[in-house]
Amino acid sequence: MTADVEQLEFQAEARQLLDLMIHSVYSNKDAFLRELISNASDALDKLRFEALQNKDWDVDTSDLHIELEVDKQARTLTVRDNGIGMTRDEVVSLIGTLARSGTAELRRKLQEAKDSAAAEELIGQFGVGFYSTFMVADKVELLTRKAGTRGGTRWVSTGDGTYTVESVDDAPQGTAVTLHLKPVDTDDDLHDYTSEWKLRELVKKYSDFISWPIRMQVERRTPGKDGGEDQVTVETQTLNSMKALWARPKDEVSEEEYKEFYKHISHAWDEPLEVITMKGEGTFEYQALLFIPSHAPFDLFHRDAKTGLALYVKRVFVTGDCEQLIPRYLRFVKGVVDAEDVSLNVSRELLQQDRQLTAIRRRLTKKVLSTIKSMQSERPDDYRTFWSQFGAVVKEGLMSDADNRDTLLRICSFASTHSDEQLTTLPEYVERMKEGQDKIYFATGQSREQLLKSPHLEAFKAKGYEVLLLTDPVDELWTGTVIDFDGKPLQSVAKGEVDLDTEEEKKAHEAEREEQQREFGDLLSWLKDVLSDHVKEVRLSTRLTESPACLITDNFGITPALARMYRASGQVVPVGKRILELNPKHPLVKGLQQAHANRGEDDTPLRETAELLYGTALLAEGDIPEDPARFAGLLADRLARTV
Ligand code: ADP
Repeated sequence: MTADVEQLEFQAEARQLLDLMIHSVYSNKDAFLRELISNASDALDKLRFEALQNKDWDVDTSDLHIELEVDKQARTLTVRDNGIGMTRDEVVSLIGTLARSGTAELRRKLQEAKDSAAAEELIGQFGVGFYSTFMVADKVELLTRKAGTRGGTRWVSTGDGTYTVESVDDAPQGTAVTLHLKPVDTDDDLHDYTSEWKLRELVKKYSDFISWPIRMQVERRTPGKDGGEDQVTVETQTLNSMKALWARPKDEVSEEEYKEFYKHISHAWDEPLEVITMKGEGTFEYQALLFIPSHAPFDLFHRDAKTGLALYVKRVFVTGDCEQLIPRYLRFVKGVVDAEDVSLNVSRELLQQDRQLTAIRRRLTKKVLSTIKSMQSERPDDYRTFWSQFGAVVKEGLMSDADNRDTLLRICSFASTHSDEQLTTLPEYVERMKEGQDKIYFATGQSREQLLKSPHLEAFKAKGYEVLLLTDPVDELWTGTVIDFDGKPLQSVAKGEVDLDTEEEKKAHEAEREEQQREFGDLLSWLKDVLSDHVKEVRLSTRLTESPACLITDNFGITPALARMYRASGQVVPVGKRILELNPKHPLVKGLQQAHANRGEDDTPLRETAELLYGTALLAEGDIPEDPARFAGLLADRLARTV
């Protein structure tokens, strides 16, 4: 060892994950090879692309390949590539930490994952990549040199929480990962990763489509002449067919092959819910192979969550996470697009303006949406899985993709007052609309339970009108953009005026309303004055049947929930005053009216009642009064007088 060998600790989450791997009873230990080969293949892709962009770069790209090397005596398996390699800093940051987004989420789940089954699932979901080697090895060595630089780095760990890094003078370009394999029962070829047979099988199964040759030296025995000793010769064989999966006709590719390819490109361990193949001919030639995953990745809602499509040009990898190929709201779609006529030398910036990519993006979007739509009608179980994982992301499209808005509205499903268990689609809602109902009503909030108890819903319940219960944060946003569906306006139950009466009912109620207006008029203007810091108007309600009061936002006003979201993201939002609506039939409101009419000089108790009324209206919608301590004090005083 040279002097600069450094011993470092894995970052806490990485250590926990490693621990999981080492003690894992994960049934599919073979997967480690797929992970190593995937990483090697990515490294070769990156090198070739860099070299194409930078013709003067002094690197050797003449024979890019992956190599498996076995030492049966030492029980080691080495996976070597002559790709891009890593610098010492990169080794530390990429291998020593979980540098990717979603780590916080992983940390939480790791704490929750009590039993081993939960931990196994976690391994599958997070896709542990390089660390999976510790399922089969008790020591792992990595030797790497970044292409175009001198000097390499050796990294060694037994997975016990620390690793060493050391600079070495001489290392071949690229990366070699050597596994010191755990002992196996003799004769157990099934799990012996030094067995030629086993390695061949695994490469065929997991990595056949890798576009780089995966080579191995194999021994060939030929019987010796005249009964003499067998002749042993060593030759190098390529184990994979290297056929790009997306370029093969769909009926020639097995489901297994698609699944493995999905795992390779997505670095995920779940199964795809749907495989989509596409071919564009004519002006814009391209082939695409897309997957809809069955599990949302950890970082789906992370600000820098990556999109999932890789761009190839005539089989040559150009870039992963190609933003231009798919809108943000479909960022969970994984896959490959291979275009014919994009220039390979084009920079990332120019890619953004590429007309061909824009056209492809439009078609991919339509295709993905129509696939989800068919899934919805033909495979409802899969659709439900899909929606539970990705629904909240898809809804982002309602704001950003006006062209596909109608299709998007049709594939969305929502909780509603119609059923406790099942979600509803908008067409189903419209189908159930009551005679005389001309709007689609919805409520937004934090949970179904809270919404169901909200005073805003009372009139709708009484009338038997269905209300959509929208509880994703994104619902606050898109409902401000989408005006209608199928010609029916979308209306928040907490906004504007609500009048569910038919024309006849209106006539019948007219006299009563006028009477109420006369009766309560003074109280309303007095309250408006007393509560002027909080509300801009006080009026009688047609939406309340049980509660005394509720708060309403103007039709185009910002709801408190939305204001909170904006503030949380650092934006300044003016405090919009709302409207206080009173239920003229409620004993509290009636009593207040009486007390107001008979009030004397000192109206302090009455003012306090007004404050309490306003505070309870906030509480009823799940909010808290502006000054909770004062509210609690007022309430306690009041209660003290009634016990
Ligand atoms: P993932 O591949 O899912 O990102 P890994 O833990 O497998 O996670 O690898 C972490 C990172 O280390 C990779 O994203 C890559 O940047 C780098 N890396 C891993 N293996 C290699 C390799 N053979 N050559 C170059 N870089 C590599």
